[in-house]
Amino acid sequence: MPYQFNFDLSKLPSKILKKFYNSIMQKGLHHRSKEIALKLARKLKLDEILEIQLEDAAQLIVDLMDIAYLNSYYKRNFAQSDRRALLLPHCARKYMDNRCKAKFDENIPTYYCSHCSEDCLVNQGSSLGVKYGYDIYVIPGSACVKKILQSGAYNGVVGVACPMEIKLAGETLRNLNNVAGQAVILTKNGCSNTSFDLRELERVLALKSD
Ligand code: SF4
Ligand code: SF4
Repeated sequence: MPYQFNFDLSKLPSKILKKFYNSIMQKGLHHRSKEIALKLARKLKLDEILEIQLEDAAQLIVDLMDIAYLNSYYKRNFAQSDRRALLLPHCARKYMDNRCKAKFDENIPTYYCSHCSEDCLVNQGSSLGVKYGYDIYVIPGSACVKKILQSGAYNGVVGVACPMEIKLAGETLRNLNNVAGQAVILTKNGCSNTSFDLRELERVLALKSD
């Protein structure tokens, strides 16, 4: 489910981005109210930098707090998982039309990347998934997450998506009860030409218990 607004976190200078994530990760901040998110958004001038409404910036912060909390909740079990899937968002493909040569399986539904473009983020993310032993799905939305996880008998999943979709997938994980997940948020949403951070994806894909 898309937001009613678009964001591009790459507009945040790296110093502010670091401060932003540090603030989100502060112990206990997740449990506090949207009022705090509004204060933080105002303090960091997120509305001006991201060119979105202050309330939308606050919503983004609340959602990122929720996701940071979910990631930390599942981290230990995820690190122990041995059968993993990587779910990439179809909106990060280089092409959204028939120039994308991915095969579409409507039964799941998922795309399977055919690696037509080296500079396609989905292609690059898929290569990382292969490197770390993941089964890869390029999915059109969170509605198919349950089917994929159950049919593949996975016990670990990494999902890349916008915060709204990740939160929906998080509900699926809660209901399944036997799959641990880690989320990598899109740094730019908008349902086409979206972006995510490959280095962050690789860090998460590589998580293993010591
Ligand atoms: S590299 Fe894969 S996902 Fe990207 S446009 Fe080509 S077939 Fe589609
Ligand atoms: S930004 Fe991508 S992941 Fe989010 S709703 Fe749109 S298509 Fe789905």
